[in-house]
Amino acid sequence: MGKTLIEISEVGPRDGLQNIAAIMPLKAKKAWITAMANAGVREIEVGSFVPARILPQLADTADVVAHALTLTNLTVAVLVPNYKGAENAVRAGVHKITIPLSASETHSLANVKRTHTQMLEEIQKITRLLKSLPKEQRPKFEGSISTAFGCTLEGPVPEKKILELATALMTAGCDEVGLSDTTGYANPVQIKRLVCAVKNTVGDDKLTGLHLHNTRGLGLANALAALEVGITTLDSSLGGLGGCPFAPGASGNIVTEDLVYMLESMGLDTGIDLNKLLASRQIVQSALPGETLFGFIPEAGLPLGYEMV
Ligand code: ZN
Repeated sequence: MGKTLIEISEVGPRDGLQNIAAIMPLKAKKAWITAMANAGVREIEVGSFVPARILPQLADTADVVAHALTLTNLTVAVLVPNYKGAENAVRAGVHKITIPLSASETHSLANVKRTHTQMLEEIQKITRLLKSLPKEQRPKFEGSISTAFGCTLEGPVPEKKILELATALMTAGCDEVGLSDTTGYANPVQIKRLVCAVKNTVGDDKLTGLHLHNTRGLGLANALAALEVGITTLDSSLGGLGGCPFAPGASGNIVTEDLVYMLESMGLDTGIDLNKLLASRQIVQSALPGETLFGFIPEAGLPLGYEMV
């Protein structure tokens, strides 16, 4: 019997790069994505279709997608904030589209200037676009509930609200929902409770992935809790790229290297070659001089006798 497969979705080229001031050259992005795919990463969120004036760091997303599509065994994912972004994503030929829906309406208005109702209408419009495509060209469509574990503007988010939004996303035509700890507020008990509640509401196979942050140091503990309640896909970022502006010294996203180490050392299979993954840091570091890369494993090294199976 094979080992349990845990999917790591690398979000560094999107989430990491959008949270730093420097703009990584296209050539380096391509090299980085290639190196990670060669290390065995099966899904990469390579960019976001947002106007270049808002996120100049991701202005070349269409070119990045075109390159990523040439790599074998890689799911090419992008984030889109609205219909226009989804149209561009479809035109680029991505495999997966994720749209964030903020659980906190205050956050949604601040972030995308839309209420929940307006966002859900936008999502329905995207669904119609995707349904108009031949099945084999249709990207997977995920609605990701951000600030699901608490919001910096509204504080705690009631569980009832998350369940309502998860149902609304599925009704609006998403294939799957995701939960995102955008603010790094979650703790392991809360993760288990909310994941189980959402799975019970929308179906076990309709929530498989979480996007966790390590802002308060609980990223890996939360990841482990998530696995225990059946989550099989975890987002993380190489070197925790992007950092966390509110917690100096803390990475924003979970560090991919540390997450892969934890999973592989527990006997779970990520399909990722940790040595190759560690080597790919060099590409990021030299393309972004002066940028801090995080990670315990890269600092401390692998334990003596550690073997990758
Ligand atoms: Zn993130």
